Amino acid sequence: MRVDVLTLFPGIFDGPLDQSILLKAREAGLMSVEVHDLREFAEGKHRVTDEPPFGGGGGMVMKPEPVFAGVESLKGRFGPGKVILLSPQGERLTSALARQLAEVSHLILVCGRYEGVDQRVADHLADLEVSIGDYVLTGGELPALVLIDSVARFLPGVLGDPQASSRDSFEEGLLEAPQYTRPREFRGYTVPEVLLSGDHAAIGRWRREEALRRTRLKRPDLLD
Ligand code: SAM
Repeated sequence: MRVDVLTLFPGIFDGPLDQSILLKAREAGLMSVEVHDLREFAEGKHRVTDEPPFGGGGGMVMKPEPVFAGVESLKGRFGPGKVILLSPQGERLTSALARQLAEVSHLILVCGRYEGVDQRVADHLADLEVSIGDYVLTGGELPALVLIDSVARFLPGVLGDPQASSRDSFEEGLLEAPQYTRPREFRGYTVPEVLLSGDHAAIGRWRREEALRRTRLKRPDLLD
């Protein structure tokens, strides 16, 4: 999978992409991520990328021309791609959406800033608007990183254990059962006996019951 990111702040991506599983995925050629400075696509001596909103109201709005030019340039160089505008008004990012996006071979992510992006980008350029939750962040860079990370986990070969993502919370509409590791006893707190029994059928039943129990308790909306 190829991911191109268009942003006014490319430096934000230094670090998160260069650690742990995302680094390994990139090194193994399972996912390539390239971050592009939107200013490179802005015209004029000052490469202006934002202007005050028509109708007043304060703040600045990202101009459409650099975003259109950036996306068109990336499509010209790397072929067709699904254009995603990160926006608090978009479709909520879920495990199911991340799994769907992992099937796409080329994603182009557009990160907004300031008061947002000229509406013509959402209306005439983006294929999809994606939100990472009902709160407003200062920019689309962290949402883009969240999207990249959640999608990467569904790419074949990225997780050491190919079954790992299918046991996680939200798969099968449930939260995952609790996990324990050594020591068996810590400050008097013990581990459920069944997990030490070696009886895999019983462990499977316990995990299913626990997954149901904690989903009912913490996220009853998932059972609806
Ligand atoms: N004025 C906009 C509104 O009320 O809908 C919010 C603009 S926000 C300050 C600036 C940019 O951050 C947005 O264009 C978007 O790219 C990004 N952003 C903020 N919150 C987000 C969220 N929850 N999910 C995805 N992107 C978000």
